[in-house]
Amino acid sequence: MRLRHIKGAEQQIEESPFVIHSPEENRGRWRDVFGNGNPIEIEVGMGKGKFIMDLACAHPDVNYLGIERYSSVLLRALQKRSQLELSNIFFLCIDAKEMADYFAPGEISRIYLNFSDPWPKDRHAKRRLTSPVFMEVYDRILKPDGVLEFKTDNRGLFEYSLESIPAAGWDILASTFDLHHSEMAEGNVMTEYETKFASEGKPICKLIASRNKTV
Ligand code: SAM
Repeated sequence: MRLRHIKGAEQQIEESPFVIHSPEENRGRWRDVFGNGNPIEIEVGMGKGKFIMDLACAHPDVNYLGIERYSSVLLRALQKRSQLELSNIFFLCIDAKEMADYFAPGEISRIYLNFSDPWPKDRHAKRRLTSPVFMEVYDRILKPDGVLEFKTDNRGLFEYSLESIPAAGWDILASTFDLHHSEMAEGNVMTEYETKFASEGKPICKLIASRNKTV
């Protein structure tokens, strides 16, 4: 998602109490940001943020961080965020590729990738959020028993991910090519893109993965 640049977006983000402005200063200390030791979960590429804000409302005992690289998109999330009374969610305007600069090893419990850009051309494969480049970043910041959840309508990206994720040393714990008609649908929280694609009758693919790590 890339919206037309909105004049003043950077300044509004700069002034927002819901955005962490120097995330590198919190590396290894995110529990202090939230004021508790609850698990921290991240959505990478949250877009307008419906999914992660719904999760934050439903699970006050979990802390959430929404990552979005475009300020014009993040601004939309901030508009919704300002209507909610929540103390367990903040946003970061960063490129997910740099997450290891902002989170210490093992600091994150769960990562959500929802309807990530498919980058269908082979020469752009490294930009896919399930490519080895990104899997290594997740590997560095997730707890040993941490989990990655990935949803997409894009069959090509999903099939690629079913290969790229195990190739990076992860186990696929569960997967489906039709989430809304599977057992994995229980407790599913819809994203903006998911709502749109589902209304068009497109099947949604989902996988859950964790690493072969016990320590
Ligand atoms: N997750 C939302 C949903 O399901 O409705 C939005 C999906 S949208 C197609 C993908 C979003 O991921 C876009 O807003 C894009 O800017 C963001 N994104 C893509 N690559 C990213 C990266 N490397 N770092 C941070 N955000 C990224």
